[in-house]
Amino acid sequence: MSEYIENVLRQIKEKNINEPEYLQAVEEVLKTIKPVIAKHPEYQNLAILERMTEPERIITFRVPWVDDNGKINVNRGYRIQFNGLIGPYKGGLRFDPSVNQSIMKFLGFEQIFKNALTGLPIGGAKGGSDFDPKHKSDMEIMRFCQSFMTELQRHIGPDVDVPAGDIGVGAREIGYLYGQYRRIKDRYDGGVLTGKGLEYGGSLARTEATGYGLIYFMREMLKANGGQSLEGKTVTISGSGNVAIYACEKAQMLGAKVVAMSDSNGCIYDENGIDLAVIKQIKEVERGRIKEYLKYHQNAKYIEKTSADSPIWEIKTDIALPCATQNEVTLISAKKLVENGVIAIGEGANMPCEIAATEYFLEKGVLVAPAKAANAGGVATSAIEMSQNSMRYYLSFEQVDNMLEAIMVNIFKSSQEACETYNLGNNYVAGANIAAFTKLAKAMIAQGII
Ligand code: NDP
Repeated sequence: MSEYIENVLRQIKEKNINEPEYLQAVEEVLKTIKPVIAKHPEYQNLAILERMTEPERIITFRVPWVDDNGKINVNRGYRIQFNGLIGPYKGGLRFDPSVNQSIMKFLGFEQIFKNALTGLPIGGAKGGSDFDPKHKSDMEIMRFCQSFMTELQRHIGPDVDVPAGDIGVGAREIGYLYGQYRRIKDRYDGGVLTGKGLEYGGSLARTEATGYGLIYFMREMLKANGGQSLEGKTVTISGSGNVAIYACEKAQMLGAKVVAMSDSNGCIYDENGIDLAVIKQIKEVERGRIKEYLKYHQNAKYIEKTSADSPIWEIKTDIALPCATQNEVTLISAKKLVENGVIAIGEGANMPCEIAATEYFLEKGVLVAPAKAANAGGVATSAIEMSQNSMRYYLSFEQVDNMLEAIMVNIFKSSQEACETYNLGNNYVAGANIAAFTKLAKAMIAQGII
């Protein structure tokens, strides 16, 4: 690694010693941009890496709310406005007990690269709370969202910062958040949040976008490597939330056989192919556990998760799509997948593979569609939602889906071109990082020392 990169990494480690996820995300990017730094020694004098790895602003706030028993609860809220170089800050909100500053910073950092890859004018941010939405009543969710937005509204706006959903934040939460924002501001600011309901400014195809986009990217990657396709391939998908469900839908549409999905408790394996209508009923309607799939398909198997190594990665598959959370594919899981003949990994979740797992896949010739590129379809479609709000206009499902598809094809091309420029073969992990970094560094230089 270059001396400049090593020095910056050391300083970042010293300054952020208690933030392992953030350090992992930074290390993963800096390791891969070595050839760009070698080609551009001027970046060191301009302190490009030091500036890019320091968030523009970190906001934390108290979120008090009253539960159904009249008890007062206090959670911590976050918004990390990481980098507004190329547009309003943009990135999701995560409600999960695991949320802390390290996880928010890793997600915000990744978001600036992802958003740059979309080719659309959006900066990077992330936010959320350590609030656990599981087992809460609708009214508790509403009261929490209202309290969260009462503070967050000071910091966001359609041209300032535009949050969206992420783990634990779906259409219901966005509705409550938007309602409270509108009530306080007393004006139409439709573009302040994305992932809205279709009745009040949402975009068709936003719900499907991240999962569909992941499969469009996968399709391009397979095509570019020996003219392969998804037709007839076996697929396993972790998670059964927004990203996982629509990745499954598009994979099935393209002729793949999805045999397993999961939630945080365990996974189901259905050798006849997953019945997605049942998954949607359990997860989108009943908000139940994936184990309940067995009520509909007695021949399927349920395997409980008992350690950090998820049982879903022990199932034989051609393509694995981690679509749940960070570091869900450990090195042990990666070895199991390779042993079972996996040919491609598509990262629907953010940073789902440990660095050692990604390195192992690449070493073994497994294709890796990296999260920053492969799951960028969600935020890209959010940007299309913002445009529709500004135009006071709605596009059809087909129009948005076509735009999404074109964006994903283009992201794949940019990643591939960077691989060609720097002789990286089919290491799209490095290719995507380099394509995004190059764009961000140029914008940074143009805007002076800020
Ligand atoms: P959802 O909340 O809709 O679904 C998350 C799914 O992952 C659930 O099935 C959940 O299971 C499972 N999960 C969560 N935490 C864990 C864990 N620690 N171990 C195992 N499984 C877990 O979230 P999304 O589908 O929106 O997001 C999934 C991933 O995709 C995240 O990494 C997110 O950052 C990323 N992403 C999302 C985008 C979007 O548009 N929504 C855009 C780009 C990236 P359970 O119900 O049991 O908790």
